[in-house]
Amino acid sequence: MGPHTGDGAAWVFSTRADGDLAVDAPGVDGARSRLLAAAGGPAVPWSWLRQVHGARVVVADRPAAHEGTEADAIVAERPGVPVAVQTADCGAVVLTSPEGVVAAAHAGWRGLAAGVVQATVAAMRDRGAGAVTAHVGPMIHPECYEFGAEDLAAVADVLGPTVVGRTAGGSPALDVPAAVDAARARAGVAVASRSPGCTACDPQRWYSHRARREAGRMAAVVWAT
Ligand SMILES: [Zn+2]
Repeated sequence: MGPHTGDGAAWVFSTRADGDLAVDAPGVDGARSRLLAAAGGPAVPWSWLRQVHGARVVVADRPAAHEGTEADAIVAERPGVPVAVQTADCGAVVLTSPEGVVAAAHAGWRGLAAGVVQATVAAMRDRGAGAVTAHVGPMIHPECYEFGAEDLAAVADVLGPTVVGRTAGGSPALDVPAAVDAARARAGVAVASRSPGCTACDPQRWYSHRARREAGRMAAVVWAT
């Protein structure tokens, strides 16, 4: 599958067909290389993180920088440096800029409440990015994401009432797509594309921890060209 392109960057949101891209999955190095090669990406290792549902952002200045660092977003400040996050249900957000500064962010509810999207955009701007654009990957949708009232109120306190949704059965739910959208709007970022569909609803296409207790993960990987 070819990559998405824009802003002098290219990126891929993987599906199950690309294999399990969880950081400790058997054969993950090979799966990463194949994904990048299929997308015409640079023949170098990508930077990956041990994600901890926080708002820490690191900056990669060369291929494979920060491999295994505990953080939830990573910025690449020059071309040919692929950076990635892994998700199943949480949002993956790819950010690009005309200046060639790019980023990938892992946006689950804790990270969103902690401001991971805003922190990522701030780190990009520190490195010279101007008009930042978001591309939003697949994630769980509210119809499948029942959520405790107390945690839901905590997220709504930070990101506003649009994050409050309902499951298909009428229980309180977190609307992660709405939370991602609120976060990127607060960061002053335009959204250029959104992956439709729900990771829990489509087992052929995506892994879901929440719906199926799967350990597999998709990757979102981006590089400036
Ligand atoms: Zn669903």
